[in-house]
Amino acid sequence: MGDDIIVTRFLNNPVPSNCFVVHYKGAETCLIVDPADNNPKELINYLNNERLTPDFIILTHEHFDHISGVNLFKKTYSCNVIATSDCSCAIQNSKKNLSIFRDNVGFICAPADIELKQKHFLIPWGSKTLNFIKTPGHSQGSLCFQIDDILFAGDTLIKDHKTVVKIVGGNKQQLITSLNEIFNTFDENTLIFPGHGESFRLKDISIKSLI
Ligand SMILES: [Zn+2]
Repeated sequence: MGDDIIVTRFLNNPVPSNCFVVHYKGAETCLIVDPADNNPKELINYLNNERLTPDFIILTHEHFDHISGVNLFKKTYSCNVIATSDCSCAIQNSKKNLSIFRDNVGFICAPADIELKQKHFLIPWGSKTLNFIKTPGHSQGSLCFQIDDILFAGDTLIKDHKTVVKIVGGNKQQLITSLNEIFNTFDENTLIFPGHGESFRLKDISIKSLI
């Protein structure tokens, strides 16, 4: 991992998807990736203790177990949400974000403040650059983003699991295209932080193991 980047993982609740707080040493601001905890005391305590204010909330994709904390964090910290344009659209719809199927009530979020329309997108963040790449397949709104030698991959890459494509918005052909691009773009030693489970290196998995 880039020496100065600190990634802290929190398990969302009730679905144990991964939320990450990303900051670099000495910084007062951070990124929050996929906040989806219904009672995020641990995360808020961490931000308070480390004196971190979120600059951005980044959504790897639109599924409810990656976004259900967005409304709360946006209101608390008035930070900007970054998502693909497809994800931004889907989080406004309880069927497309799948939350309606969980409890028959569902929830929606406001559109993202920064909607990524192109395939590739760079956003400066302090002394770093966030390198976004749209990776549809698991869902229409999926993205991965890179900082230094780290890649946040959402549910597109999960070790020892085939990438799920059989839910609304999933598409196997698009997934194969996205996986080819990821494996051709990033170094095999890239450290992957997935949407579920532990981190791993890109070389620990193969396209075959995912489709
Ligand atoms: Zn998902």
